[in-house]
Amino acid sequence: MLKFLKQVGDYAKETVQAAKYIGQGLSVTFDHMQRRPITVQYPYEKLIPSERFRGRIHFEFDKCISCEVCVRVCPINLPVVDWEFDKASKKKKLKHYSIDFGVCIFCGNCVEYCPTNCLSMTEEYDLSTYDRHELNYDNVALGRLPYKVTEDPMVTPLRELVYLPKGVLEPHGLPANSRRVGKLPEDIAEQEAEK
Ligand code: SF4
Ligand code: SF4
Repeated sequence: MLKFLKQVGDYAKETVQAAKYIGQGLSVTFDHMQRRPITVQYPYEKLIPSERFRGRIHFEFDKCISCEVCVRVCPINLPVVDWEFDKASKKKKLKHYSIDFGVCIFCGNCVEYCPTNCLSMTEEYDLSTYDRHELNYDNVALGRLPYKVTEDPMVTPLRELVYLPKGVLEPHGLPANSRRVGKLPEDIAEQEAEK
């Protein structure tokens, strides 16, 4: 008899616990039913990348002196600098330059150390292709300037979290003049100039 009563007690305890867990799960569900969706309808909507976002690298052919510093500082020796020695000018002459973005880890070392600043990181991030060999960009592809999200007429730019006003988590339908949390670089420069 005692064993039976213990079994009933255990069963009742487990039932109460199960009901508690179901209640906890449903409270999250009901909480989300009160919120507006924050889904970004890519590619019709795109988030504005952060100011220091490290996207696809831009290369300026005319500024490159074929020093190969970018290759030496790259953790995987990735950039391919194809040059020949020009006897007349006694200088290296760049023939081709390429970076394979299928392998690049976007660390930015090459950009940081290039002595002539011919490399820069852009905000372009949608590089997907069906063939990974297409990610091997030559100097022509690297020289193309990307469309800015804010200037692309086909895209609705949305602010990402760092650009949203305090307490706002939803980027849709924000007034254009709403200020973000924190100061912009020009605000800081202005503040410093006033000191
Ligand atoms: S470090 Fe700059 S200048 Fe030197 S080879 Fe690389 S891209 Fe050209
Ligand atoms: S971003 Fe980094 S991994 Fe990519 S090419 Fe430059 S140094 Fe190499």
